[in-house]
Amino acid sequence: MLSAFDHDDLRSALETAGWRCTTQRLAVYDHLSCAEHHPTAEEVYQGVRRIIPKISLATVYKALEALVASGVATKLTAGDGSARYDARSDQHYHLRCLRSGSVHDLPTPFDPDLIAKLDPALMQTLRQQGFQVTGYRLELVGFYDQDAVNNAVDGEGSAAQ
Ligand SMILES: [Zn+2]
Repeated sequence: MLSAFDHDDLRSALETAGWRCTTQRLAVYDHLSCAEHHPTAEEVYQGVRRIIPKISLATVYKALEALVASGVATKLTAGDGSARYDARSDQHYHLRCLRSGSVHDLPTPFDPDLIAKLDPALMQTLRQQGFQVTGYRLELVGFYDQDAVNNAVDGEGSAAQ
C-alpha cells in the first residue's frame, strides 16, 4: 500500500504531534493499513481485539484520533454522520458502495487542477466571495453487484456469528 508507515516512522509521527506511541496505537494502525475497505471504528475494534483481546472501543477511538491528528491517517465522514478511517494521508479518490457502506481507493492519479478544468472561473469567484478553498474530495458512489458484496463480506471474516 502506498505511504504505509513502518513502526519507527509511526512512533516519530505520533511523538512529534505530542501523542504517546503505544502498542495499542501501533496495532490500530497496522489493522487500518491492511484493511482495504476503510473500516469504521467499530470494525477496527473487532479486528484489533483478535490481537489485543482486552482493548476497549474507547481506546480504539482514542488511537484513531491520535493517528489522524499525527497526519498518518485520515477520517472520512459521510453525509449521515458516520465515519470511516483511511491509513493513507496522501490525496486520492474513493469509491463508496451505498449498499454496504464500504469505501475503496481508486487507482486514478490525483489531479490538483481538476476543479479548474471543470470550471475555470470557480476558484476566483469563491475567493471573491471570501471562501478559501483548501482542497477537494471526489467520491464515486454506487453499488457492487450482490456477488461482489458476498465475496467482500466473506473476505472480511464477519465476527458477528
Ligand atoms: Zn483511501
